[in-house]
Amino acid sequence: MARSEWFKICLHAHTTESDGDEPPERVVEWYRQLGYDCLVITDHNLVTRPSGGPPLKPLLIPGEEVTTMLDGEPVAVYVNAVGLRKTVEPTVKDGVLATLQANVDAVVQAGGIACLTAPYYREGFDHHSLAGIEGAALMDIYNAHPNNVLGDPRTFSYEDLWDEALTAGRRVFGAATDDAHNYREFSADNANPGRAWVMARCRGLTEDSVMEALGSGDFYASTGVGLTSLESESDSVSLTIEPKKPQTYSTAFLGRGGKVLCEQHGTEASYRIQGGEGYVRARVTSSWGARAWTQPIPVD
Ligand SMILES: [Zn+2]
Repeated sequence: MARSEWFKICLHAHTTESDGDEPPERVVEWYRQLGYDCLVITDHNLVTRPSGGPPLKPLLIPGEEVTTMLDGEPVAVYVNAVGLRKTVEPTVKDGVLATLQANVDAVVQAGGIACLTAPYYREGFDHHSLAGIEGAALMDIYNAHPNNVLGDPRTFSYEDLWDEALTAGRRVFGAATDDAHNYREFSADNANPGRAWVMARCRGLTEDSVMEALGSGDFYASTGVGLTSLESESDSVSLTIEPKKPQTYSTAFLGRGGKVLCEQHGTEASYRIQGGEGYVRARVTSSWGARAWTQPIPVD
């Protein structure tokens, strides 16, 4: 049996099939050049299939950003889908939450993994009610689109919303995504490729193994910090950071309510589970601001 390896995955990118500025084949080429192993193109309301045969790399997994506007609401409602066989038509229900839930359900029904994507977290919506959404295996905790990034600094952060969902008992994993739209001009104001990704541990680079790793939380999210080991057991979490000089690293272990359980410095960190934490997850921060987030281990 093949040994498990880490694969770099983009879960959220647009093309000229919706509001991106390069055609699908060019977007695939961008991610190939950036060293990605797997790419999920997520155009609005359609499953984009680049022309020509499948590339050697990246592996393409079909996706879609299910997008709908509600009458009288200032926000669009977005749900990302990974691993769809066919386009999911957006559903409109009464209110943001009911619409979100209906679209998450439609994605799961179509065989996809649903990810709550960041943009709808903008104003005009009670962000804390997100913890009530069921069935989404993933949620953005970092979205590199300049409009989104870590949340709205005035009111909330995506990571806090994740802790709220986890504290409410949801089994939801954190994703870092590009939400790439702009491949022609690179600047802080543009949504460029290559800023935020997930590293999934798979036995070989196949759609099935990637879907299994995403669905079971065998991955971590990153904006530039790499891990060379990650062991999440029922009684401990330990990790080793790939050093990039001259950066230094600190690791926080967090539990219920986002409480910091302990903080450690250096390229190795570990936490022994005491019981009663609710869950335990790790967040690594480099002295240059890059991060990695591991998935939560449930703890009674
Ligand atoms: Zn998007």
